[in-house]
Amino acid sequence: MPARILDGTAVSNAIKDEVANQVAALTKCGLRPGLAVVLVGNNPASEIYVRNKVKASEQLGIHGELLTPPASITTTELLGIIGELNHRDEIDGILVQLPLPPQVDSKAVLMEVAPEKDVDGFHPLNVGLLSTQRPGLTPCTPTGVMELFRRTSIKVTGQTAVVVGRSDIVGKPMAMLLLNANATVTVCHSKTHDLAGVCRTADILVAAIGRPGMITRQFVKSGATVIDVGTSRVTNRADFDRYFRGNEKREREFAKKGSTLIGDVHPEVAEVAGAITPVPGGVGPLTIAMLMSNTVKACRIRRGSLIKMSDQTC
Ligand code: NDP
Repeated sequence: MPARILDGTAVSNAIKDEVANQVAALTKCGLRPGLAVVLVGNNPASEIYVRNKVKASEQLGIHGELLTPPASITTTELLGIIGELNHRDEIDGILVQLPLPPQVDSKAVLMEVAPEKDVDGFHPLNVGLLSTQRPGLTPCTPTGVMELFRRTSIKVTGQTAVVVGRSDIVGKPMAMLLLNANATVTVCHSKTHDLAGVCRTADILVAAIGRPGMITRQFVKSGATVIDVGTSRVTNRADFDRYFRGNEKREREFAKKGSTLIGDVHPEVAEVAGAITPVPGGVGPLTIAMLMSNTVKACRIRRGSLIKMSDQTC
């Protein structure tokens, strides 16, 4: 039986509707949430991500601001920009789009973002709060995956989860969130022995690797839930045929655009998995929805006392 498709777009729309209602209520009380996105230089891929983030915030009624310092910026100058945003009361969330240019000390920049405005959840204080199960801001992509589980009734407690990838942005916080939700978690990486064998133990398999189609059916236990975080672009015909031969919709897209998106999970996995996220339309939309949700959360946490003092709907 083909896998159940976990529709990230539908779940993301539901989250965004809820966020829009919360933003409307906060705005009525004079507390319109604000998000500042800092994009250094002009990396085309980053420009697309950032434009989508600012557009989504505006659609939900969040005040969105885009700062675009030049690629030649120094660490000190960027720290200055972050410092100013930290002090502006109408800004609840600050997101620094990665990667930063090589001359900039990325760790120092991420440390400078005030933890209560750190809507990406990358600041060590928020990492510590997550790992000690205290309330805080958690990274958008893995938090979106947990929301997907909750809203599509995928059981996590007591399940064996395998996360492939150990980045600070996806793999590690994903593992921590799954552990906090009572899964038994294994984290794999490029030095893991018998990766396919370890993955086959998983009831829940999360692939956050960045290697197109690497997770083939040999990696997946029959009936497992497979979450595909990876996003890569297939641009040559041989690769296209390897993954999508016979898929008419993809054929049309490839013919029109000369490329198509693929995750870390080979499409053949849909024949063995119990449930699977598509690419596109799986984890990607959830990441943006959770950024919006984190911005409202940051607003509520930081201006919490104000909210309690004004009318109850806030
Ligand atoms: P990183 O490159 O930071 O991390 C990749 C991880 O995969 C590393 O831990 C690496 O291991 C591991 N890895 C690489 N090759 C192998 C291999 N052959 N076998 C086992 N493990 C391997 O990537 P990110 O975590 O930032 O992103 C991962 C993917 O997710 C990318 O495709 C990215 O575009 C996508 N992404 C998608 C998002 C979305 O919204 N859909 C959001 C964020 C990311 P090691 O540590 O040993 O090097």
